Amino acid sequence: MPPPVFRFAPSPNGYLHLGHAYSALLNCDLARRADGRLLLRIEDIDGARCRPEFEAAIVEDLAWLGVEWETPVRRQSEHLADYRDAMARLAAQGLIYPSFESRAEIAKLVAQRETNGPWPRDPDGAPLYPGTAKLLSPGERERLLGSGAPYALRLDMAAARARAGSLAWIERGKGPGRETGMVTAQPQLWGDVILARKETATSYHLAVVIDDALQGVTDLVRGQDLFWSTSVHRLLQKLLDLPQPAYRHHRLVRDAAGHKLSKSTSATGLRELRAAGATPTDIRRLAGLP
Ligand code: GLU
Repeated sequence: MPPPVFRFAPSPNGYLHLGHAYSALLNCDLARRADGRLLLRIEDIDGARCRPEFEAAIVEDLAWLGVEWETPVRRQSEHLADYRDAMARLAAQGLIYPSFESRAEIAKLVAQRETNGPWPRDPDGAPLYPGTAKLLSPGERERLLGSGAPYALRLDMAAARARAGSLAWIERGKGPGRETGMVTAQPQLWGDVILARKETATSYHLAVVIDDALQGVTDLVRGQDLFWSTSVHRLLQKLLDLPQPAYRHHRLVRDAAGHKLSKSTSATGLRELRAAGATPTDIRRLAGLP
């Protein structure tokens, strides 16, 4: 049996906090216990928010914590061709269409729809795509693409589900409603998700699925906030004929007031705790790890 492969996949758009420390150390502990491998992946596709100094700080903080990972580290921004290739495969199945509304236009469409009652929202609370770009005639679509207008490339969720059939994933942790075991994927909760944009080769959903497959990740251990995203990930794995890893979604570390930690609050930042004299052992204890 080849060893299990774990990964920690931070986005370098800020400094690490106790929640990241928990996730990284849990991955590290589980990999060690299973004689497995641990990879580090830098999820830096959001060029506007990611910065090299955050990446350097992440690497330094993880090493200080005692997390050990294999090299080379995969940096998503260096692999855009892999994501374009996956998009082409989905497009060849007739599952991708461009939509041209701006964020403001979408907000207006949602407000109009909501005069007739609540409009459905995705598990992160964002309204589902309310537009009708899927119904554009081929001629009109060509005209808009040729006009140089910005666009988003969306997954035709109804067609994708019809092709993939019903799906489930193996959950070794727990979802927000304590879901565990075989969990039925519900990608329809996300509507026609964006998988890429005119200027952006990939979304989080597509990149994470491609990378986990290319890197041979077998065990995904990540925060419960990504639990329902797994529905979209399972669907993309099926459509792209990729292997199915096992998932373990873990609890989120909260601050004293019970709120989810954010990268901008310094009270739980690793750098601040370290500057105040905390040791890696203190961080384990503060994050609630044995
Ligand atoms: N890059 C994501 C984050 O920092 C995590 C992605 C994942 O673990 O699937 O929240």
